[in-house]
Amino acid sequence: MSANELISKARAQQRTSLDEQAGKSLLAAYGITVPQSLTVKTAGEVDAAFGKLKPPVVVKIMSPDILHKSDAGGVKVGLKSAAEVKDAINTMAASKQIKAARIDGYLIEEMAPAGQEIVIGGLRDPYFGPLVMVGLGGIFVEVLRDVSFRICPITRIDAEEMIDDLKGAAILAGARGRQPASRAAIVDALLKVGGEGGLLMTHAEEIKEADINPMIVSETAAVAVDARFIL
Ligand code: ADP
Ligand code: MG
Repeated sequence: MSANELISKARAQQRTSLDEQAGKSLLAAYGITVPQSLTVKTAGEVDAAFGKLKPPVVVKIMSPDILHKSDAGGVKVGLKSAAEVKDAINTMAASKQIKAARIDGYLIEEMAPAGQEIVIGGLRDPYFGPLVMVGLGGIFVEVLRDVSFRICPITRIDAEEMIDDLKGAAILAGARGRQPASRAAIVDALLKVGGEGGLLMTHAEEIKEADINPMIVSETAAVAVDARFIL
């Protein structure tokens, strides 16, 4: 499905956001790497589906009622067999919070190569139009608010400066024995999201907020493993 089709489909269903799968398809339409994935409705479909993916895989709940999947017990990583996937789905389906929700199905996706987690976001300012944001994942964004913003469209130099503006920039470069995160891959992802002809500029009228949280950045690649768009 093309980017415009994804957005109009959500609109036609009266949705004000894109679910994770549609959000990742939108990212992929702009050249951003997302994990190979498929969806199942029940554990019964896992045996037929599992062989299409390269293990280990992740299982995630897909529900319009659950925004923070981990908090609801709706994410299980590192599953190595169809049996483990089925177990994970059955455990999720039996949990109280998930039982109370509308369930679209379960997303099964390949694990991204290990790396550092960053966040790339977007929002629309009534005066300046789309803004793009980058930050380090986890506590850096949530507790320390170590983020940097620019008005779109950004250039390659803007993207480089956004990274350098982060207080945690040295962590990305591999400080304290961490595996360095590919700077080139982050710059490239920022341009695909916030550059000229990028996702936010192209859909400035439709996208109110974008949240790639996290993007996992290894020494060679950046993979968007969670995506949410508010229309
Ligand atoms: P939520 O933010 O709704 O709790 P996520 O989809 O972000 O759920 O998954 C939670 C965490 O699980 C991520 O922050 C990441 O650390 C890990 N994770 C999720 N998907 C993958 C994946 N495909 N590969 C590796 N790690 C993943
Ligand atoms: Mg997330």
